Amino acid sequence: MFQAAKQAKFQRGGSTDDILLDDGNTSYRLSLYDKPPLYDVTVEEFETSALDRLRILAEIESSAARNRSWDETKQVTMIQCGKYLPLNSNSASGIDVQAERRKDCLGHFVLRLAFCRSEELRRRFIRAESTLFKIRFETDDSNERRAFLDSKDFNWISVSKDEKAEYKEQLQHFISAKVDLTTAFKNEAFYKVKWTTIPDLVEKRKVFLKGGYAYVPAREQASIIYSAFEERLEAALQATSRAISLVDEDTRLNPILDNLAQGFIAGVPSDWVASGETTGDGITADMVDSLAKQHFPLCMRVLQQSLRKDHHLKHFGRLHYGLFLKVLGLSIDEAIAFWRKSFAGGPGSDKFDKEYRYNIRHSFGLEGRRMNYPAKNCLQLHSAHEAGCPYRQLEGSPENLQSALLSSYSAQGLTVDDLPEIMAQVKKKSYHVACTRVFEITHARSVKKGEGLGDGESVTHPNQYAARSIELEKESKESKLEINSM
Ligand code: SF4
Repeated sequence: MFQAAKQAKFQRGGSTDDILLDDGNTSYRLSLYDKPPLYDVTVEEFETSALDRLRILAEIESSAARNRSWDETKQVTMIQCGKYLPLNSNSASGIDVQAERRKDCLGHFVLRLAFCRSEELRRRFIRAESTLFKIRFETDDSNERRAFLDSKDFNWISVSKDEKAEYKEQLQHFISAKVDLTTAFKNEAFYKVKWTTIPDLVEKRKVFLKGGYAYVPAREQASIIYSAFEERLEAALQATSRAISLVDEDTRLNPILDNLAQGFIAGVPSDWVASGETTGDGITADMVDSLAKQHFPLCMRVLQQSLRKDHHLKHFGRLHYGLFLKVLGLSIDEAIAFWRKSFAGGPGSDKFDKEYRYNIRHSFGLEGRRMNYPAKNCLQLHSAHEAGCPYRQLEGSPENLQSALLSSYSAQGLTVDDLPEIMAQVKKKSYHVACTRVFEITHARSVKKGEGLGDGESVTHPNQYAARSIELEKESKESKLEINSM
């Protein structure tokens, strides 16, 4: 990717906004990402390929934070991959597999640039990428996987017949034969690798050690490949981190890379491209209070509660809540009616017209620069000093956070017994995981533990939380109607 970055730097002075790279043909679905992508990409592709991959890696991190089993992690990851980063085998018909592989490769190398910058980021990136590789390896078409392995040099040495016979007594212990050990031993191939490259197999005593080598049965081959993947990635990240200063000079790429790294630190993808489209049907000012009690995430419930209690919100509270309500579906007229009613001055007050009306119209793109501003996502709210994510802001006062959770959600089934699990996630700074768990508890009739907002997806945006909650309620009403009409 260093090469790609150099190319990008080279192109910066050109007349287009493209990043110049070369060629990008890949023969297999699996990749060890040995070669950086070398073809032309736009800045937008550079960003979106990385963002889509980051969504999957962030979900893998969430799975680890939630102690999901391997099978659950695999299932959630495959669903996310299907949505954001499909990667079909060569036998798939009617699909441009080369385009899928190019996107896969580009996203990986862009994220290398973003995550090579600190030991912590490198460690987390390697862990998430290795998990993704293992899932793809396990689910790959067996013929294609064999062809991929044959195309790579993993530094394993095939154990000769004579050597196998010499160590027969020792090697026999490492094959499982339910019926005939002699036949099973005869059929099993062994490979020699430096024992230091497969510490997991050595630790589990699954290999025979001799002369600095580990003798590995063929069925344990996957472990060697996983180790090779991790080792190569670690070395590549180290090399990238030494060269990263060249990319740091690029004013187009640097903000993108910073945002990506921030997204991973917060445990959620940076969703700064969230569209400003409404996430619910048109809603009226009178509906907001009851919607808040049923469908809003904690950040927005807290703002609604403060507004009702104090008839006032500070600047950032008004901004974050106003944008959230706009994206939820509150029209400009209803927004003005809502805020007028909520503020202490009451309808027709001069203060409202002078101070707030302009700002509300501004956030709808009807004043000033006329930009239709999107609502803030979780990542932005995690780092906000005011009116941000309560899981983050009340982390230092657990009693207050617990009482906010109980007062906000007990009517929807959250109990004291649920708190330790939620607080454990907050302690790990996995705020979005805590929020996702609250969603599951308060929507237990529709989603099971581990399913998140559906398909295992975690909360990344307050509007995504509210929209999904409203959608589940609609689905439940519709299915009741269907049952009643039968
Ligand atoms: Fe709001 Fe996101 Fe925090 Fe949930 S995780 S409370 S949606 S900012």
